[in-house]
Amino acid sequence: MFKSQALTEYIAKIDTNKCIRCKRCIQNCGWGVYSWGGDKVNIDTNKCVKCLRCYHYCPVEAIDIVDNPTFYKRNHNWSFQHIKNIKKQAETGGIPLTGMGCDLDYPVLFDNLLLDACQVTNPSIDPLREPMELRTFLGKKPSRLDIKRDKKGKLKLKTKMTPQIELRSPFMFSPMSFGSISLNAQKVLAMAAKECGIVMNTGEGGLHEDLYPYKTNVMVQVASGRFGVNPEYLNAGVAVEIKIGQGAKPGIGGHLPGEKIPLQVAKTRMIPIGTDALSPAPQHDIYSIEDLRQLIYALKEATEYKKPISVKIATVHNVAAIASGIARAGADIIYLDGFRGGTGAAPTVIRDHMGIPIEHAVAAVDDRLREEGIRNEASIVAAGGIRSAGDAAKAIALGADACAIGTTALMTMGCTVCGKCYTGNCSWGITTQRPELTARLDPEVYGQRLMNLIRAWNHELMEILGALGVNSIESLRGSRERLRGVGLDSATLDMLGVKPAGR
Ligand code: SF4
Ligand code: SF4
Repeated sequence: MFKSQALTEYIAKIDTNKCIRCKRCIQNCGWGVYSWGGDKVNIDTNKCVKCLRCYHYCPVEAIDIVDNPTFYKRNHNWSFQHIKNIKKQAETGGIPLTGMGCDLDYPVLFDNLLLDACQVTNPSIDPLREPMELRTFLGKKPSRLDIKRDKKGKLKLKTKMTPQIELRSPFMFSPMSFGSISLNAQKVLAMAAKECGIVMNTGEGGLHEDLYPYKTNVMVQVASGRFGVNPEYLNAGVAVEIKIGQGAKPGIGGHLPGEKIPLQVAKTRMIPIGTDALSPAPQHDIYSIEDLRQLIYALKEATEYKKPISVKIATVHNVAAIASGIARAGADIIYLDGFRGGTGAAPTVIRDHMGIPIEHAVAAVDDRLREEGIRNEASIVAAGGIRSAGDAAKAIALGADACAIGTTALMTMGCTVCGKCYTGNCSWGITTQRPELTARLDPEVYGQRLMNLIRAWNHELMEILGALGVNSIESLRGSRERLRGVGLDSATLDMLGVKPAGR
């Protein structure tokens, strides 16, 4: 029998002295690691991906998942992953796939940036006693406001505002399609978005009928595959997004395997059951900024100029010039997806070696739009690596209007970032369409957890603003003077437009 030379990464162990043979590990594992036989639980450790569902549900803590001690000989140059991938590719001739964002040891610049705080001469503000404004409006802003008094002497806004998305705080959920994640996972996002006054995003295509009640908190997406796109869909949400690229896989399309296309997904995406859903790498009608402008205005026409249009791109080397073109093409929102952004499935080689970090991209785009005098033409959304309210505050200080979170939101549903979403076996019921797995994700329970996270982050943002002595998130936007770099070289500081700590 052929035995793969690619070593398994993890070893699942059961302490038989503790095990009460309740079989919960067998029921909970989506990967089939555990089976029953000979009056005990048997383990096929080769299948273990360390998603830790079994560990969490074992009532007696009898399970331990450890790194395989029989590692390849430690070698600084040839990592475990390098050796494993070479052996796998030699055996299969295939492209190793992965899920979630890049996990390589690239610098995370958020960790080298520190925020300012008030002392002595510039008083801080107590967010528990003073009002704090986190409300964020996404869309084009006029360069000046005309105000007049009505007959009763009240001030009235004369300027006609273009459509905006109003967010109660500067957060939104990253696009994740029904198909890549389960309907229950989308419901968690929709319920939390509604409760928190923010928006979720359909991802590339189709809005399931169960989500229509949440449409005031939904952004609908038009991707290259045009899945589920019709006039009702375009007009359902509060905004429409054109997806050009994704941070985890810049420059390539999407592929949802037929196994993840059961009846409901097929109906929502308007494709046959069980067929692979392929999104081409380019939008086949967009080969220039002029083409993009045509699609932006086609969507504005289709929505009677009532919805802001967002354009989502992966952050690549010339992101600033591209963003400038997007703003000039008429987009109201530019969604920047950094290279650490998550995915349901991507070739590992693309995810790990292409694109640039979101910190660089936000600073470059904000600079460029300001230099060209068009910063008010479009809002900037930063995504791809926002792990905390601290990261969000730093992204906003670098120039973002709002931040989108994807992986973080999935973690509130149980995700442990095992990276095996592309298999469709997610034990937590998130990136799977297997009914026995999706049923375990209760939208009410997990919706509450996601709401808690957003509430907690809102409070943390207010604490940060108070410490900075400002009372609105708008005052922090692009305020790089309130950031300092530690351990960053002068070229990076210069690029970020941030001074070194101590200056
Ligand atoms: S869940 Fe824990 S106690 Fe139950 S069978 Fe599995 S290892 Fe044993
Ligand atoms: S969503 Fe599921 S499969 Fe994907 S990384 Fe999280 S736990 Fe793993």
